[in-house]
Amino acid sequence: MTNKRKIETPLQRQNRHKAMECVAVLDKLKNDFDIKLDAMGYFYDLCEKVYIKKESIYSKSIKIGTLCLQVPSEIIYALDAVPIRLCNGFHTDDEIGSDFATSKACPLVKATIGEFNSGNFTDKPDIVVSPTTCDQKSKSGAIIESFGYEVYDMEFPRTKESEEAREYWRRSVRRFAKDISLVLNKKLKRGKLKEAIKKVGYAQYLYHQLNELRKEDNPPINGNDMFLLTNAFFFDNIDNWTKAVEKVLEEAKTKLDNNIKKNSVRVVYTGSPPIFPNLKIPMIIEQSDGIIVADETCSSNRMFNDMVSVDEWFLYDMVDSVADRYLKGCTCPIFTKNSDRIRRIIDLVKSHRAEGIVYQAFAGCQVYEMEQRSVLEAMEKEGIPILYLESDYSPSHLGQLTTRVEAFIESLKNRRRKKV
Ligand code: SF4
Ligand code: SF4
Repeated sequence: MTNKRKIETPLQRQNRHKAMECVAVLDKLKNDFDIKLDAMGYFYDLCEKVYIKKESIYSKSIKIGTLCLQVPSEIIYALDAVPIRLCNGFHTDDEIGSDFATSKACPLVKATIGEFNSGNFTDKPDIVVSPTTCDQKSKSGAIIESFGYEVYDMEFPRTKESEEAREYWRRSVRRFAKDISLVLNKKLKRGKLKEAIKKVGYAQYLYHQLNELRKEDNPPINGNDMFLLTNAFFFDNIDNWTKAVEKVLEEAKTKLDNNIKKNSVRVVYTGSPPIFPNLKIPMIIEQSDGIIVADETCSSNRMFNDMVSVDEWFLYDMVDSVADRYLKGCTCPIFTKNSDRIRRIIDLVKSHRAEGIVYQAFAGCQVYEMEQRSVLEAMEKEGIPILYLESDYSPSHLGQLTTRVEAFIESLKNRRRKKV
C-alpha cells in the first residue's frame, strides 16, 4: 500500500500560515481581555471571513487598491468604485516581500509587496493607487507594477504649511479625480461626491463618538478592539461597517460603570501603524495592565480625525475641500517639519487623561525612527513619560519587548502612587 502524502502548494502554505496568524490574534482578542463587547463579534467574524475563509466582500464592484491613507476615498466612492486599503500586517507576507525589498525595509511595506507578489487577495484590486508619501511606499509602487498590476502614482508634497504645497496637492487630487473617472468611464458628479463626503463623514462621526467614551474613568472598549475595528474600515463595505460600529457604540455606552480597567495605566499609542494581525505591541500593553485610551496612528485615529469641511457644495470646491482634509489631517513623519503631530499627541494625552505614551517605530522606518527625537524632547518638556520601541512583524524579541513595556507600566504606577 502506498502512503500518499498530500503535497501543499506554496499558496496553500501561505494561506495556512496567514490563517494561523489570524486565529492566534483573534483568540487573544476574544479571550485574553476583560472588557468584552458582544458587538465586536461582527469584526472578529469579518476577519475570519476575509482572511481565513477568503470570502469576497465586493465580488461585483470595481476595486481601487490604495497603498496609504492619503488616497481620498470620497472620490472613489463618488465614482461608484470601492477603496480597499492594502497596507498589510501579516508576517507571512512580510517574509515573501523580503525577496523584493531589502530585508531592512519597513515590514508594512514588505508585507504589502509580498501580498501583491503572491496575488493572494480575497478582493483583488483592479487598479492600485500609490501616493508618493514615504520613500519606501513610493518605491513599492514600481515593484508592484513590475508584478503586472496597473499602478497609478499620486504625487504628495513633503511640506504642508506652505500655500505652494497646498496648491500642489489640490492639483494632484483634481488630476486623480479626472484620471480615475476616465479609467472607469464614469463622470464625477456633484450629487455623488456630496453623498460620499457625508457617508465617510458619518463613519468619522461614529469613530469620534466611540473615542469620546475612552475619556471616561472606565473606558468601555480596549485599544486592541479599537485597532481591529478601525483596521476593518480598510476593506469592509462602509454601510456594513457603520451599522456594526453603531452597535458597538450603543453597547459601549452601557458599560461605563464596568470598573474593569479603572486602575489600569492609561496610555496613548503613537508611531508606525498597528495593522491586523500585527497587534503585537498594543497586545503587550493591554496584557501588562495598561489600557490604550487613544492613538495617533494612520491605521486608526488619523483616518477619522479631520472631516471634510465644505464652504460651497459645487463639484470643484468639494474636490478641493477633500484634498485639504487629507493634507491638513496628515501627521505622518514624511513631512520636513511635523509640529502638528506633536500638538496632536499632547492634546490626546490631555483630553484622554493619559499617564504615558508608547511610541513604536517599525525597524527600517527611517522617518518614524528619526522623528522620535523631536517627539521625545517635546514630551520631556511637557513632563509626559514616553517609551520608545522598535519592532517588526516577527514573533521574536517578544520577551524583551514585554519586559520593557511592563517596566514602563510599573514606572507609571509608581509615579501615580507618588502623586497621591
Ligand atoms: S505611515 Fe505614513 S506613509 Fe505609511 S501608510 Fe501611514 S500615512 Fe502612509
Ligand atoms: S512605517 Fe515608515 S516606512 Fe513604513 S509605511 Fe509608514 S512611514 Fe513608510
